[in-house]
Amino acid sequence: KPSTVGSSVIPIINKLQDIIAPVGGEHLKIELPQIAVVGSQSSGKSSVLEALVGRDFLPRGSEICTRRPLVLMLENRSQWGNANDGREWGEFRHLPGKKFYDFAKIRREIQTETEREAGFNKGVSEKQIRLRISSPNVLNMTLIDLPGITKVPVGDQPSDIEARIRKMIMHHIKQENCIILAVSPANSDLATSDALQMAREADPTGSRTIGVISKLDIMDRGTNARNFLLGKVVPLRLGYVGVVNRSQEDINKNRSIAEALAYEQKFFHDHPVYHGLSNRCGIPQLAKKLNQILELHIRTVLPDLKAELNSRMVAVVKELRTYGEVMESKVEQGAVLLNILTKYCEALSDVVDGKSQKMSTK
Ligand code: GDP
Ligand code: MG
Repeated sequence: KPSTVGSSVIPIINKLQDIIAPVGGEHLKIELPQIAVVGSQSSGKSSVLEALVGRDFLPRGSEICTRRPLVLMLENRSQWGNANDGREWGEFRHLPGKKFYDFAKIRREIQTETEREAGFNKGVSEKQIRLRISSPNVLNMTLIDLPGITKVPVGDQPSDIEARIRKMIMHHIKQENCIILAVSPANSDLATSDALQMAREADPTGSRTIGVISKLDIMDRGTNARNFLLGKVVPLRLGYVGVVNRSQEDINKNRSIAEALAYEQKFFHDHPVYHGLSNRCGIPQLAKKLNQILELHIRTVLPDLKAELNSRMVAVVKELRTYGEVMESKVEQGAVLLNILTKYCEALSDVVDGKSQKMSTK
């Protein structure tokens, strides 16, 4: 089962792109919603994003690490025909042409570039770092890692640091096509969560906010987040998912994501309370929830896409007709192609609806 964001949707999207490319070209494509994390500092935002992408590359730590917005553009490469080359690389907007194959070096470059703009002493900047990740195993979509809400200025931070960071966050999450992951650590008072408060401000109806409760492994002994996960404390339309990410010690010991996921699974499985809440616990569940939202989105844009595709096909056929008899066979080819496209679109709806798992590949 897929545990990274978008992985279950990749086949659908790739197929869609195959269908669209010959007629629609560059301009006709599916814009997926972007995903941003909000929460207080050190709540585990970067850890959650990293686990969802399934790669180690974000600066994480007990002090302020994310000091500039990081816009992470995932880019699926399979449609370009070099599917055998399974290598993944990152490329920064500020270093065009330089491919990073080593994800540890990506993390270092994020740190260096953060320091270049925001200094060495905990300063924060609203200037984005833009990183493109090219891989056969991701979906074309954007994730945004944001600095956390902080109250007391430290280091080079200005006295109005809280207001500045809130503004920076709001700028990103108020956009209608942004899915908000509101991350609240389970070891602080959940009812007064900064994350949920900000998410509500940006998304008052709660139609695009998912609650994430992190650090379930380090709650006070004798307490648990059951009622919270069930939405009994702060109700949320899309609900909550509890997660356990790597601790600072795990980071220091270079524990891998795979190990962390295995640990998380065991933690929830063995826990007397969370065992019965398995559909609300774990990074794979969070990924599943996000994948469902993405599927829903595809389903919503599908009718328009079909209509656009059809009208373009009709235009192409018409244009071919104007070339006269010599092109008559081309027109026939066009008609055949249109037919195939229509079939594909129907098959596609079935896939999104879950009626059929497979589509014929021609
Ligand atoms: P951010 O500031 O919100 O991006 O938080 P980070 O992802 O950088 O994590 C802050 C610190 O909390 C790091 O030391 C992480 O190792 C630790 N951390 C994050 N999530 C968890 C968790 O679920 N359990 C434990 N024990 N530690 C966590
Ligand atoms: Mg962070």
